[in-house]
Amino acid sequence: MEKKNIDWGSLGFGYVKTDYRYVSNFKNGSWDEGALTTDDQITLSECACVFQYAQTVFEGMKAYTTEDGRTVVFRPDLNAERMVNSALRLQMPAFPKERFLDAVEQTVRANLNAVPPYGSGATLYLRPFMFGSNPVIGVKPADEYQFRIFATPVGPYFKGGAKPITIRVCDYDRAAPNGTGHIKAGLNYAMSLYAIVDAHNQGYDENMYLDSKTRTNVEETGGANFLFVTKDGKVVTPKSDTILPSITRRSLVHVAKEYLGLEVEERVVPFEEVKDFAECGLCGTAAVISPVGKIVDHGKEICLPSGMNEMGPVTKKLYDTLTGIQMGRIEAPEGWIKVIE
Ligand SMILES: *Cc1c(COP(=O)(O)O)cnc(C)c1O
Repeated sequence: MEKKNIDWGSLGFGYVKTDYRYVSNFKNGSWDEGALTTDDQITLSECACVFQYAQTVFEGMKAYTTEDGRTVVFRPDLNAERMVNSALRLQMPAFPKERFLDAVEQTVRANLNAVPPYGSGATLYLRPFMFGSNPVIGVKPADEYQFRIFATPVGPYFKGGAKPITIRVCDYDRAAPNGTGHIKAGLNYAMSLYAIVDAHNQGYDENMYLDSKTRTNVEETGGANFLFVTKDGKVVTPKSDTILPSITRRSLVHVAKEYLGLEVEERVVPFEEVKDFAECGLCGTAAVISPVGKIVDHGKEICLPSGMNEMGPVTKKLYDTLTGIQMGRIEAPEGWIKVIE
């Protein structure tokens, strides 16, 4: 496969148009058979439900070139399931799991020239999404929908090694009890934009959201789940109905237990306890783990013992093992790697 003429090493996390995307439309109660297209534009009514009432959900995942030259996607079945759950919560029709997996495969295969080579640190980011497409002005769900997947090559998240970040405890809330915090919907991001721009203006990289009911327990950031390590080497990750179930976090929990023999606690994590942890990381598809060096709570600084120069030792082991599995250097658990033939 002749690769596109792209300087893979200098790519950032931005949209780069690729040759093909997959589109399927839902009309009269069913999904059409779907197809690849070269058309990157979407033309909709000005009154489409997505514009008026934000009826849209999305996913994010990556295709990689492994050490032995295969093209693989990491656990797309979990993205398919999560997108079904997201859609149902916004009163949208589910895009069937088998069709989702087929669409992922078609999209990657059609864009093989944009899958970055092994060792470049870059990957092909896949963005499945779905939206209500017909005009809706009285508040109700749309009758027609579009499901689409595009692909865009993205650079290594950390150029020149992972540098720990500084985050702040945020006064804004991300997710209400019994709300939509557990689904991957644009609406959760729209309302976090003010808080993240404010955080950046104040010199912080991310927001730590607390539970909005009691404001005492750690939830997540705007787009990544927390993983902590205790001083005696246990992995602790917040459990809550209002955080998004990160596939990276669930995979790291498995790696911690089954590959590294670590004890893992998935439970409520009071913010009070954070000052006692040895390491902290943010888990998500984009970076796998971003190490956190400092957490600032209204001027009170919590400096993680792992410091501001590098990942903590346990975080590093988790990171190296999971990326090793993704890149084919370490044997993956059954079903984690979908090979694109
Ligand atoms: C996507 C997302 C994550 C990370 O999930 P992954 O499946 O690991 O990429 C975490 N939190 C929120 C709010 C998200 O939208």
